[in-house]
Amino acid sequence: MKRTYVKHLLLGLGVSAILSSCGSVPVTGRHQLLLVSDQEVLASSLTQYNDYMKSAPRSTQKAQSAMVSRVGQKIATATERYLKENGLEAELKNFDWEFSLVKDEQINAFCMPGGKIVVYEGLMKVVSSDDELAVVIGHEVAHAVAKHSNERMSQQMLAQYGAQILNQTLAQKSSAVQQVASSVYGLGAQYGVMLPFSRKHELEADYMGLIFMRIAGYNPDVAVTFWQKMSSGGSSKTPALLSTHPSDAKRIAEIQKALPQIKAKY
Ligand SMILES: [Zn+2]
Repeated sequence: MKRTYVKHLLLGLGVSAILSSCGSVPVTGRHQLLLVSDQEVLASSLTQYNDYMKSAPRSTQKAQSAMVSRVGQKIATATERYLKENGLEAELKNFDWEFSLVKDEQINAFCMPGGKIVVYEGLMKVVSSDDELAVVIGHEVAHAVAKHSNERMSQQMLAQYGAQILNQTLAQKSSAVQQVASSVYGLGAQYGVMLPFSRKHELEADYMGLIFMRIAGYNPDVAVTFWQKMSSGGSSKTPALLSTHPSDAKRIAEIQKALPQIKAKY
């Protein structure tokens, strides 16, 4: 009897530990599993970002670099404004924005936790306006604001180590973080091999990205034609952006559904 009680108590503690590791996504309010502290996510992503930037050749295209900075800065300002106006000022300390265009022919872009935005020259060849670039940057920034990296790391840690991860010491947890970090960011040891975002994260990043670009003064309607253009692909190769950010008819339908409501509200 007593033993059963203790067992239940322990189970209860485990559950409450998991509950206390929950967060909720700004804008959508969805509950998510966050086992890693913001500081740890920022430290591990910054290490990977700095390593990447050490070897990444910067673009010499002046006009395109300026476009990346201009659009990136406007999206960053809009995002901060959204967070401030919605009682999420505490999140601002997690961002130290940087905008870079790198010499790489892949059609790709990313935003690391902490607001490190990187656009590849290859993407600039298919982007025909500031509005279209804002679709991509808004989407990437949304992944960072929604802490999707943390959530992916947490899910992987739970899958790899089981619920015992919750009871591990900080040092043990840190080494687990290091192990899963490279597959989540795709910039470290397994360079170029990044796990694709789940459909849930993609749709969430689309929705939030549209809001951020709207607040920044861009036209979110172009998101529909931009993703159509990306997925129909003029070239034979699938853009790298789509292999980590899968796109399909459902995604475009969801964007179309959300647009009138977003334009009315923001
Ligand atoms: Zn995405």
